[in-house]
Amino acid sequence: MSYEVDKDGFYGDFGGAFVPELLYPNVKELEDNYIQILESDEFQDEYKSLLKDYVGRPSPLYLAKRLSAKYGGTIYLKREDLNHTGAHKVNNTVGQILLAQKLGKKRIIAETGAGQHGVATATVCALMDLECIVYMGEVDIERQAPNVARMKMLGAEVRPAKSGSKTLKDATNEAIRDWINNPDDTYYLIGSVVGPHPYPDLVARLQAVISEEMKKQLKEKTGNENPDKIIACVGGGSNAAGAFYHYMDNDDVELIAVEAAGLGVDTDKTAATTTLGTAGIIHGSKTLLMQDEYGQITEPHSISAGLDYPGIGPMHAHLFKTGRGTFLNATDREALMAAQELTLLEGIIPALESSHALAALKKIEIKENDTIVINLSGRGDKDLETYRKYLKY
Ligand SMILES: *Cc1c(COP(=O)(O)O)cnc(C)c1O
Repeated sequence: MSYEVDKDGFYGDFGGAFVPELLYPNVKELEDNYIQILESDEFQDEYKSLLKDYVGRPSPLYLAKRLSAKYGGTIYLKREDLNHTGAHKVNNTVGQILLAQKLGKKRIIAETGAGQHGVATATVCALMDLECIVYMGEVDIERQAPNVARMKMLGAEVRPAKSGSKTLKDATNEAIRDWINNPDDTYYLIGSVVGPHPYPDLVARLQAVISEEMKKQLKEKTGNENPDKIIACVGGGSNAAGAFYHYMDNDDVELIAVEAAGLGVDTDKTAATTTLGTAGIIHGSKTLLMQDEYGQITEPHSISAGLDYPGIGPMHAHLFKTGRGTFLNATDREALMAAQELTLLEGIIPALESSHALAALKKIEIKENDTIVINLSGRGDKDLETYRKYLKY
């Protein structure tokens, strides 16, 4: 059984590139070039140097003593929250901006829901002096004002998507339309392990630095590069893909993915795709998604904007279907409680997304000699208003 993408862009039954004919040349150009560029010494030197001095990697692997005392086992936090811009997303945008440069592209487009990917994209465009256009639903522009201000300060143009529900999927449609109209000079920078092949594989490879470092750090700290369990939250699935990547073929390591249950999987206010989703096509890829009886994508809900996505990447659909991954979910309330708990036990305010991974500690069996790594995908500064409101400060 392979968990890698095959030559046609599939992970088992999932993946592929279901794009309009007009987009085929763009996707093909990327597919024909990405591996060769990513594996070149020139790219690797520039990428590693930026990760080190600009992003601040390697991110620490922190032994959370008080959290371990409470739950048992030895619990480490992989501190992606300490990266420049506050989350794992920049690992991917730094890599893709270098790729775009090597392909000779001058204009970068992206779509964003919560604004986190838009900020990470605008950041690297400022760094490389490239034009940056971020599509964002009109409703999201209003809900995510601080991130819109960040993108503008970074020199990006934020274009509102005014159709449909005026949220992420509408922004995606606008970005794809733009790409069709500007096939030569424009690079479409996708923010998670979603979209048509080769994006899921490209983004997974760029986030794989997380598990690459994890192996070295665990070996140093415990003498064994393998943990018993790795826990990560899943929106589209990029931080989880990065944390799982180098352990995918090692059955001794349990891979635990945590989705957002919103108000609960028995309500219609949820984003728990593996529990409620069925196979279909979203964003150019065959995967699991939440849809109604007519195949229309249903509006997801999570208190955490970064997990508020109606699908999951095809790699995760495959990990779920084959049973290689354990898929759990945590409600809004469970995530809030987990955020409060980590903050009081360790003095670390986590992102709401990452809090879903932390909430899984209450849902799994932990043995005394288990080594567990939780991927702390981001910091909670952006969520302070939500914490203040729900935790009543
Ligand atoms: C965007 C985001 C996520 C969800 O995206 P994935 O692609 O599933 O990783 C998780 N955590 C943080 C902090 C984010 O900003």
